[in-house]
Amino acid sequence: MNLADSEEMAAHLLMRGYALTDQLDQADLVIINTCTVRDHAEHRALSLLGRLRKWKREKDGRHIIFAGCAAQRLGEKLKKTFPYLDLISGAREIDHFADLCDRSGLFAPAPGGEADKRGVTGYVTIMRGCDFACSYCIVPAVRGPVHCLSSKEILTNAARKAQEGHPEIMLLGQTVNAWKEERKTFADLLNEVSALPGVERVRFVSPHPAFITPQFLEAVKNNPKIARHIHLPAQSGSTKVLQEMKRGYTRETLLQKIHALKECGFAISTDLIVGFPTETEEDFLQTLTLVEQAGFSAAYCFKYSPRQGTPAAQLPLLDEKTLEQRLDILLNKVRGLAEHAYSRHIGQQATVLMESPHKGRTSDNFWAQTKKSYKIGSVVQSEVSASDGTLLFTRD
Ligand code: SAH
Ligand code: SF4
Repeated sequence: MNLADSEEMAAHLLMRGYALTDQLDQADLVIINTCTVRDHAEHRALSLLGRLRKWKREKDGRHIIFAGCAAQRLGEKLKKTFPYLDLISGAREIDHFADLCDRSGLFAPAPGGEADKRGVTGYVTIMRGCDFACSYCIVPAVRGPVHCLSSKEILTNAARKAQEGHPEIMLLGQTVNAWKEERKTFADLLNEVSALPGVERVRFVSPHPAFITPQFLEAVKNNPKIARHIHLPAQSGSTKVLQEMKRGYTRETLLQKIHALKECGFAISTDLIVGFPTETEEDFLQTLTLVEQAGFSAAYCFKYSPRQGTPAAQLPLLDEKTLEQRLDILLNKVRGLAEHAYSRHIGQQATVLMESPHKGRTSDNFWAQTKKSYKIGSVVQSEVSASDGTLLFTRD
């Protein structure tokens, strides 16, 4: 989401004559697009902002924009600590970013620059905000309630991305599969986007387990352009903790959904939180066994981070040592997952969307190296002959 929002902000500045650079000393403007989901993320953004004080002082005409979720959470009070900040643009203001720039008087009109057309994947936001209320999560407070973009707008944006040379379209939203429009479902939208000229593959992130239904699977299972990978955050393997997190599912219903997704050929990666305040040793063991039973292809593991204003932040924290230990054990458990998932491909057919002449990604999101050289963006079918645990090698 942040990548897509960054692209959107950058596009407005490109239209005002700016060009992209990753060299700080060449830049006239820095946008820090922030995350506040965990304290650590916010901390890093603020410390970067602190370091930019010197950069700004070194040359006249340098500007700093602080954007995204931490900007939304902290607002104007940031100006007290960082008076040299030129503009604060909260996550909810992304649709008005262009107006905000114009009103700021910082950017004189200039001839438009070129849009950034690198990369095989084109990001398309389809919904913003979240209507859930997970007890640990700050997203609903900073991003607000769900707002779905219209299918007309989404299809126009996706078609433009495909024309610009992005054969893979990634649909984005905080609970992306909650998208709906009158009688149209998220699955209908996936099928429509995949049928656009130039679209070879459609991915989406982040889905919520609540909307993985038999109807969804029925609608997508026969469309090979819908990537066979889903990032489905589980958070915990304990039904008790899931209830306290207010996730709206149990371990058993989650496992049923995971099983059904696998039957349709989906590889499943996930997010897990360790050390939720009420998590006992037994609950934690349930998370470890979930990892085994679910057969995830990858898992991002986070230490619980209390976020001010969320219901769980009222609960007493587990001690840091327990958190560290549990994270360590879980990380050890998930370390071998990818390697194992790679080796399962040997002897099977793979559909590779090329991202460089010899390398691309399979539909279920594994990196593959081809023997011959292919055009970037083309789709190659070949058998997997070997794997080194981080890469598949194809016969062709
Ligand atoms: N909408 C997605 C998740 C968005 S937040 C969903 O519901 O699945 C991305 C990830 O950050 C979450 O999946 C969760 O694992 C992690 N996360 C969110 N809040 C957190 C917190 N307070 N402490 C630790 N991890 C957190
Ligand atoms: Fe946060 Fe839960 Fe919404 Fe995901 S579904 S963004 S974890 S409140």
